[in-house]
Amino acid sequence: MHIEELKGVGKVRLEALRRAGLTEAEQLLWRFPRDYIDYDERTKVRDLHSGKRAVFAARIKRSSTTRVHGMTLTNATVFDETGEVQCIWFNQPYRGHMLEIGAVFLFVGMPARSRGKLCVQCPQTAPLATHGIRPVYAPVRDVPPAVYEKLVRQAWEGAGAAMSDPLPQALRARFALPGYAQAVYGVHFPQDRAALAASLRRLSFDDLLLLRICMASLRRRTGTGQALKANLTVIQPFLDALPYELTGAQQRVLRQALSDMESERPMARLVEGDVGCGKTVIAFALLYCAFENGVQSAMMAPTEVLAQQHYSEACRLLEPLGVRVVRLMGSVKGKERREALRLLESGEADVAIGTHALISEGVEYRNLGVIITDEQHRFGVRQRTALEHKGRLDPHVLVMSATPIPRTMALVLYGDLDISVVDELPPGRKPVRTRVVPEGKRKDMYSFIAQAVAQGRQAYVVCPLVEESEAMDAASASQTVQDMRAAMPDVRIELLHGRMKSEEKDRILNGFAQHDCDILVSTTVIEVGVNVPNATVMVVEDAERFGLAQLHQLRGRVGRGQEQSWCFLMADPSERMRTLAGTNDGFVIAQKDLEMRGPGEMMGTRQSGMVNERLMALAGDPVLMEQVGQAVEDVFARPDDVENQAMMRYAREQMALRGLQVARN
Ligand code: ADP
Ligand code: MG
Repeated sequence: MHIEELKGVGKVRLEALRRAGLTEAEQLLWRFPRDYIDYDERTKVRDLHSGKRAVFAARIKRSSTTRVHGMTLTNATVFDETGEVQCIWFNQPYRGHMLEIGAVFLFVGMPARSRGKLCVQCPQTAPLATHGIRPVYAPVRDVPPAVYEKLVRQAWEGAGAAMSDPLPQALRARFALPGYAQAVYGVHFPQDRAALAASLRRLSFDDLLLLRICMASLRRRTGTGQALKANLTVIQPFLDALPYELTGAQQRVLRQALSDMESERPMARLVEGDVGCGKTVIAFALLYCAFENGVQSAMMAPTEVLAQQHYSEACRLLEPLGVRVVRLMGSVKGKERREALRLLESGEADVAIGTHALISEGVEYRNLGVIITDEQHRFGVRQRTALEHKGRLDPHVLVMSATPIPRTMALVLYGDLDISVVDELPPGRKPVRTRVVPEGKRKDMYSFIAQAVAQGRQAYVVCPLVEESEAMDAASASQTVQDMRAAMPDVRIELLHGRMKSEEKDRILNGFAQHDCDILVSTTVIEVGVNVPNATVMVVEDAERFGLAQLHQLRGRVGRGQEQSWCFLMADPSERMRTLAGTNDGFVIAQKDLEMRGPGEMMGTRQSGMVNERLMALAGDPVLMEQVGQAVEDVFARPDDVENQAMMRYAREQMALRGLQVARN
């Protein structure tokens, strides 16, 4: 059923849904809630905790509306018998009228510590009598949540009952899985926690199973790649031109990848290595190797910032050796884009570097033989495989990830890929020293930073993404900038946030890289891959709001040069924070993160949308993983079985559909 056949979808909403990639009613059913709110699990105001979303009942004590920087701010103090807390809304002028003094509401929101005080930003409100578990969907602009929920309901009524189950009955029975339609119903309209858990488990089972079947079939392709002349001698000119020697680990991983490419069986290798271990140069060596063999290569990064950085670096390292490098990303338009496309199609360009624009419609390669994706866990499966199909023969594929994946999990998620680990940092690095900084020590920290700046160093300050609204995140980050400018008037401070145009982002980031600015305050856009060795201080505001692995990634932005680097986590001491302060080993941290979050914590875990991130969260459930493993073995043990074949077909279709759809959320 086409989505415009649903009641309540007029022109504007149709367009809004289309922008979100939704055109068929069924797609609404595959777009699962990212989270749930249990209105019966209520927290007392006293027990509100930074970074932990809560539902609480409270009475309005006072409220006020003001305008600041062209924005409407609505403030309210609300209380229950255990204490009071501040709530704030941005650009919701109607809030002021709603918040009558003395009225009682249920508030749903994520408290955050802002300059030492707990404050709930943009809580939703609901009548006190609201009960049950309600889904939370990733917002679609111009489609209010209540309307969206009604559309899902209609889609279910239209298509739900007719959904066929992709898993054979025997398999479902063996692992006590509910039916597919029942599970889809259960995640959208959960009756209670048990039903929700069973539904999530079933759909998780499917996700993992489908992914593993896809990966396994990908891997089982044989003999259709191009055997390249790939060894250290071939890439010697590249190595000679490098300003440093490769570490032992880099050399080993490089040799492994080179030897893969010598075979007709396409390389399918995952390179894992902690932030800063030097994966990029390994990738470039392989790009160079492709060039020497006269085949084209492509390197895909998840963000423009990162793609741009790779591009600049590639121009610096590869172009002097005669390699023609082009870039393709959203911000590259008009003449440059046309020229890049022409060069790729004619084969004059040797290397393409970019974002997923590399795989968009109309990009043709003459002879694409090698593909590298950086920070691959951020891509949907579909995006990766789309690139792989750009070549006429199966290209050699290398994926790189700085997210340390505990071994057991890597085997499950990437069981079909060969894995190399870069387990050594370039020489001369001093481990980053990490300190947990309570609010009371902020001033001291500022003077420490001012001192570092006076010595010619640079600093990052990262503010968490607070809510869906980029406007709000930008506002809170710009507040931080103002505070810091007031505390350090002579220091050059710039702000980078997700709402800026990409040219603007590039300008600021390049300025920081060239030391035209001392402190870069940003929302998490710098998280992956950015490399400025002169930056020695990383401050993470409201650190409790980040995952441990994410904090470790952020910390990896410093400690890249010879100087001692520091990471300051703004937070009260806690076990999580102590874990980070206590080790620089990404694998230890990832393991600890898993243990602390515990398996099956689906209710609280935000499903950030990217297929693989969601799967990573699921991979923490060893029982589920084990069962999926058994099921996969069964499927491949009897490949001629009709049901198994149907499942493999279904797996490919679904991953293609959902990879695309989920990645857009
Ligand atoms: P990551 O693995 O996190 O992607 P990068 O590839 O960005 O790390 O490398 C981090 C920094 O280390 C870069 O500045 C790079 O030039 C430098 N680097 C990489 N390999 C070496 C090496 N063998 N010796 C010295 N510096 C190196
Ligand atoms: Mg990197």
